[in-house]
Amino acid sequence: MSYGFSLTPAQQDLVERTHAFSRDVIRPAAEHHDRVEEFPWAVLEQAAQEGFYNPLFYRDLIGDPTGLSLPLFMEELFWGCAGIGLSIVMPALALSAIAQAATPEQLMQWAPECFGEPGDLKLAALCVSEPEGGSDVRNLRTQARRDGDEWVLDGHKIWIGNGGIADVHVVNATVDPGLGHRGQALFVVPGGTPGLQLVRKLEKLGCRASHTAELRFEGCRIPAENLLGGDERLERRLAEASARNGDGRSSTLGAFEQTRPMVAAQALGIARAAFEFACEYASKREAFGGPILDKQGISFPLADLAADLDAARLLTWRASWMAAQQMEYHHAEGSMAKLKASEVAVRATEHAIQVCGGYGYVRDLPVEKWYRDAKLYTIFEGTSEIQRMVIGRTLEDPAPPLHHRLPADGRALSRRFGRGTKTRSLAAGKAMRVASRTPPALMRLPMKVLTPPQKPRRDQGSRS
Ligand SMILES: Cc1cc2nc3c(=O)[nH]c(=O)nc-3n(C[C@H](O)[C@H](O)[C@H](O)COP(=O)(O)OP(=O)(O)OC[C@H]3O[C@@H](n4cnc5c(N)ncnc54)[C@H](O)[C@@H]3O)c2cc1C
Repeated sequence: MSYGFSLTPAQQDLVERTHAFSRDVIRPAAEHHDRVEEFPWAVLEQAAQEGFYNPLFYRDLIGDPTGLSLPLFMEELFWGCAGIGLSIVMPALALSAIAQAATPEQLMQWAPECFGEPGDLKLAALCVSEPEGGSDVRNLRTQARRDGDEWVLDGHKIWIGNGGIADVHVVNATVDPGLGHRGQALFVVPGGTPGLQLVRKLEKLGCRASHTAELRFEGCRIPAENLLGGDERLERRLAEASARNGDGRSSTLGAFEQTRPMVAAQALGIARAAFEFACEYASKREAFGGPILDKQGISFPLADLAADLDAARLLTWRASWMAAQQMEYHHAEGSMAKLKASEVAVRATEHAIQVCGGYGYVRDLPVEKWYRDAKLYTIFEGTSEIQRMVIGRTLEDPAPPLHHRLPADGRALSRRFGRGTKTRSLAAGKAMRVASRTPPALMRLPMKVLTPPQKPRRDQGSRS
């Protein structure tokens, strides 16, 4: 499917419904949950009633071949509040890891357990990071050893969204330490399993409505069938990795790669909230005899942000479209989207504080919260440095830009006579020469073909 920006009626409806939910349900609750750092159960319940909290909803969004539904939803939701947004979408992150690693039967078993249903909500967590290793996944030390019909997990996890309060913990653990991160596998640990301990809930700078925790696994026993992908697949993967001397694919890293455009779109939601607020504030706040928006010191950085925000959104939509088309990221397109969107979110929120002056620095306005929320996005799901590393590793790849690699669609005739072809250009040149010697009435038809399509005229106040 070719790449485009026009929304389907269903996508338009999704944007409007999500925006209305953010405006009417999330925003009114945001300040309270941020201040008291309390999990937003009531908002989750409303999200579930609205159809935003179930595995089929995410399956639908991920299955959209245009790739637009998922980032459109994320941007609108996180425009409301990133902490509440994270609480709503956290099970989708765990589900994405399950979907990549699990057998179809396991997916059917665990997907409903990640979300529950209205009136009986459930939570899910993806447990990868550890005190000794966040960026460097080779340094992860949680181990899983087989004991008869069970796996026994021992280790220490930190920064885990929904950790300890989730019904489903998808846990990354090493089964063969000799193979580094290629010797890791994913396990499902149900909440309440003996040996799974919530050490503490972490107090955060931002996204404070979401629950983030430190966990310990001590002799934590789970049934053998909770190994995602099953025994045979694990043995095959380990054999492949050891044949390639530790080389091979990590199922956990795969999940992060796929979720990067989703996380980028979340950052865009925060950035847009701050940007819109700053523009409106600047058009109303007066200093030195007029709105501060009229001063270039205020409007130029906002103009830069407007362009950067759109650029980041285009990168995000491209990466999401590629993922939907199951195209490989040759030039780390997912990381590019995450890098740019997260950094523009930090700049947009920081500048929003500057635009609001003293009011921006205190809790009277929401901009200081957005700034605290945005900072997380240059850290989790791969820090900015790690995204640059991933992009840097592709720089030797001789693959040309994406549009060179895409198959042409349309008819073969367009290769010969379409816009920009040699035939068309030479014919146009000839027509121009003939036109000067031909009565205008005779030229009307050929000129109709050759002139560019007319745009509807709009009165504009400036030359631009
Ligand atoms: C609020 C929050 C929620 C989170 N949610 C989850 C979750 O649900 N599940 C989960 O598994 N994890 C989660 N994380 C963990 C997050 O993904 C990690 O914090 C992140 O990957 C960074 O790891 P680290 O904190 O260990 O930093 P480190 O890896 O120690 O990095 C420290 C600094 O060194 C830099 N650095 C490291 N290596 C290099 C290098 N090679 N070159 C240049 N610079 C380098 C980093 O960019 C960073 O600036 C969450 C984190 C936070 C803060």
